[in-house]
This record gives sequence, structure tokens and C-alpha cells, in this order.
Amino acid sequence: MYHLQNIDHYYGDKQVLSIEDISIPPASITGLIGPNGSGKSTLLKLLVFLEEPTYGTIFFKGKKVAPFADTVRFRVTLLPQEPYLLRRSVFENVAYGLKIRGDTNDLKGRVGEALAQVGLAPENFARRKCTTLSGGEAQRVALAARLVLRPEVLLLDEPTAMVDADSGRLIRKASLRAREEWGTTLIVATHDWQWLYETCDTVLHLLHGKLFKGGLGCSVYGPWRLGQRGLLQKELEDGQILVVPIPEEGKQMVILDPARLKISLSGKDPFLKWEMNSLKGFVSRLFLERNGKTVQAAIKVAELAITIRLERNQVEDLKLFPGKEVSLTYDHREIEWF
Ligand code: ADP
Repeated sequence: MYHLQNIDHYYGDKQVLSIEDISIPPASITGLIGPNGSGKSTLLKLLVFLEEPTYGTIFFKGKKVAPFADTVRFRVTLLPQEPYLLRRSVFENVAYGLKIRGDTNDLKGRVGEALAQVGLAPENFARRKCTTLSGGEAQRVALAARLVLRPEVLLLDEPTAMVDADSGRLIRKASLRAREEWGTTLIVATHDWQWLYETCDTVLHLLHGKLFKGGLGCSVYGPWRLGQRGLLQKELEDGQILVVPIPEEGKQMVILDPARLKISLSGKDPFLKWEMNSLKGFVSRLFLERNGKTVQAAIKVAELAITIRLERNQVEDLKLFPGKEVSLTYDHREIEWF
């Protein structure tokens, strides 16, 4: 769907994105995670063709696209964090794009369907003024206004950060249905682990405008300080210490690869080799993956959320349940810098 090549994007003389080469396949779900100011919203603006990259090219289905081009208008659509709604009825807001497109067949039916898709009963909501809606309802109306267009690409900027849990769940469900029914490609900037770990096919980590394919990995940024044995360390919020090797120059972030973390119940074994370290945490959630065979265990270690993939029998052997204390053991030599 997209191919980004040598993107360098500037605001004034400040560089905010630097992406060498990345492709996003059609009908995929991509999660974007990164700290504030890392460039997530800027990247979404480029992908929806509201802005043009200062340097480099974005190919959309193999072609270059000019900002605001008709070829992508209504087909590639962004749900911003704080969507703008017209001060009119819910119906008018959802019908707006279709009317502009001159596509007015069965407006009532299609608007009703889009509202139902986001969990808003048309008979109760269609005539309501948008100024009377709660934040979560307004966000869902804004999503319905995009879904009614049956977009090829739906970009979502922190869709669940500012809304109630129920709206969050409905937004996720409606977006997923768009992918299932129409093959919509979804790209979601979010910190919501439910999106990132249960829903997305790919998770891209963004730091200072650079993208890394960290997958299920948990990204950790500094500050780092020099610790014992010539290694770097980071003190986590609860005082535990994460030990990492010295990076090559220019690298700033580590991604803990869950495949290299060993989960146990025992804590640090006094006979562990010196290169093995451990962190204590607790299981915050267990989630059976779609294949029915593997389980994602979300482990909270201080401020870090680490998601590990386990076989079902491992979960049974370890008698894991949400709230259970566990230890994660890792070899610091295997930690990678990005
Ligand atoms: P994120 O969405 O990850 O929080 P943004 O894409 O909003 O990050 O911002 C990335 C960087 O670009 C920030 O340093 C921000 O201050 C800067 N920035 C974003 N938009 C503009 C703009 N219109 N003009 C100047 N600087 C901007």
C-alpha cells in the first residue's frame, strides 16, 4: 500500500523524521509507538498526504501522490486525536464526505450503518447536535464519518487515549471490521497495548523521527548511566536496575526482545552466571492468540510493559494468572541497541 523511501522531513531547520525504507502491505494493521515528540503525528500527516516530505518519496500503490490529490481524497483518511466536527447534527457530519463526493444514494441507510458500526444507535443519535455529545461519542461520530467512505487506508492518531474504555473498545472493533470487510489498511499511533499487542500485525517503534522494527519488543529510552563492570544501566521507577551493554555511537534506544527473556517464578538464582540478570514483575494480562496455541503474557516491570509469547502448556506449568509475581531473566549481552 505504501513504500517510503529516504524520507527526511523538516520543520524549519529542525529534522523531525528520517526514514530510510519501509513498506506497509495492504490490509495490514501497523502500530506506531514512541514517546511524545518522536514524530508519530507528523508521519501520519505524510501518510494521509496532508503534507509532502521535505525530501524523499512516498509511493502509494506504486505511485507518487501530490498533497490533497483527488486520487486519495476520501480513500485515505485520518482520524486525528481531537477530531473536528461541524456544529450540526450527527447525521450531517457523517453524511458530509459522501455529499461532497456527490455520492448521495441511500444516504440515510449508509449513515445509519456507519453509526451502528461504531455502536451509536441511529434512531437515538442521527438527529443529535454534535455539541451535545460526550468525548467518546464525538470520537465515534468522527470515525463513522470516515468509515462511511469505505476507506482504503484508515490512519488513527491515539484513537483511544482520550475516550472512555467502552468507546475505545468500539473504536477498535469498528476499525477491525473495516479491515475484515473492505480490506482497509490500518495504521495506528498508540500506546494502548490492546492495539499494539493483540491487534497489530507489525509494531514500529519511533524515536527522534527514526523507525525501528521492534515487533513485540519493549523499547527503553534513557537516561542511562555508567554502572558496574563497564556496563550501562537504567534505574526503573521502582528502583530496579536494567543492565545493558555499551552501545555503538549514535544508538539511543534498546528494545528488549521478548524471545530472549526467560520467565520464571523463582527470582534470581544465586548460581546464575554473571552475565544473567533478572527483573521482578507481575503478570498484568494473559491473552490467547488467534491461533489458539500461543498465549501473550503481558508482564509489568516497573514502568515497562513487556509482552512475552508462551506456549499454552508453559502458562499451565508456571500456573500464571493476572497478578502473579514472576521474574524475567536476561543475558545483557543479547540486548540490542537501535
Ligand atoms: P508525536 O506525534 O510523536 O508526539 P509530532 O509528530 O507531533 O510527535 O512532533 C514531532 C516533532 O515535530 C516535535 O518536536 C514537534 O514539536 C515538531 N512539530 C510538529 N508539528 C510541527 C509544526 N507544524 N511546526 C513545527 N514543528 C512541529
